Amino acid sequence: MSAGTVRPEELAGLPDHSAELAQLVGQAAGAPSLSWDAVNVPMIRHWVEAMGDENPVYVSDEAAQAAGYDSLIAPPAMLQAWIMRGLKLSNEVEAARAAGTSQGDGPSNRMMALLDDEGLTSVVATNCTQKYGRPLVVGDRLLVRSFIESISDPKRTALGTGRFVTTRLDFVAVPDASVPPAPQSDEQVQALYDAGEPVATMRFRILKFLPVQRQAPRPPRPHPALTQDNAFWFAGAQAHQLLIQRCMSCGTLRHPPLPACGVCGSLEWDTVASSGRGTLYSYVVVHYPQVPSFEYPLPIGLIELEEGTRVVANLDGMALEDIEIGMALRAEFVDHDDELSLPVFVPARSGGER
Ligand code: ZN
Repeated sequence: MSAGTVRPEELAGLPDHSAELAQLVGQAAGAPSLSWDAVNVPMIRHWVEAMGDENPVYVSDEAAQAAGYDSLIAPPAMLQAWIMRGLKLSNEVEAARAAGTSQGDGPSNRMMALLDDEGLTSVVATNCTQKYGRPLVVGDRLLVRSFIESISDPKRTALGTGRFVTTRLDFVAVPDASVPPAPQSDEQVQALYDAGEPVATMRFRILKFLPVQRQAPRPPRPHPALTQDNAFWFAGAQAHQLLIQRCMSCGTLRHPPLPACGVCGSLEWDTVASSGRGTLYSYVVVHYPQVPSFEYPLPIGLIELEEGTRVVANLDGMALEDIEIGMALRAEFVDHDDELSLPVFVPARSGGER
């Protein structure tokens, strides 16, 4: 930590690794890595199609030549795609990290361990910038090496107090023909990297932070906008009854509430009480955006009642992985406050009323 800065009081009592962190700045996060494939037309075509980028210089030599290039070029923003290590390997690396068996004690792992030990256990990516030296062309083989560029003093943010960490990735290119056959030794990869032509730099910044403790109880659940059409339904819920509107002329049931029957047009209606039994017709699990009144992940079901109408409600009493379309459910009622009670649906076989 630089002289003269005041350590935020919320970090009082937590370890301060400023001195050791400062020594990691400027160090390489690990050895260089070599891209699996050279820059090639099929990957470019897939990428521009997926991104909806119709610039012809990415797919046509003629268009690229008209724009002043020798041949078609790769989209600059595709930079990272060339050096991705693949899902299987990524999963293995993540699993090793989670199990604490990450290979080696490189500066990057050491830095993350120090930040965790400081209590800055949460992480969020904040921004990423890329700077391009020249366009990538077919036959370029990329190598990348990352460096710990900066670690800030602890700063207060809306998410919590933490340190910003900037990692710089230096990309170089060599002719694919100069790459020895796989598997390349570490020495061969290092020699290729040292011989490479710098083509791009990427800076990736994260915030490692101390999670803000919940300071206030969860705010109350927002209330619905009541209208003369829907008020009966919420009044029913307050009495722990799941009501369904019924046309008094033709008997058709309807939900959500509407002023007129969709079948015969009659404005006359009454209600029937549902048994609360039904099956899960569809559902979503909401992760984001998060409203403080709710707990996340938040499963929301579309339940087909045995009377035939469908209702949207929270799902409860089940693990997310146990949610299945078609599962039998029953309604329970939760009193959120004096004026708002709502049904939630739980597995039909689960225990008694709460
Ligand atoms: Zn009707």
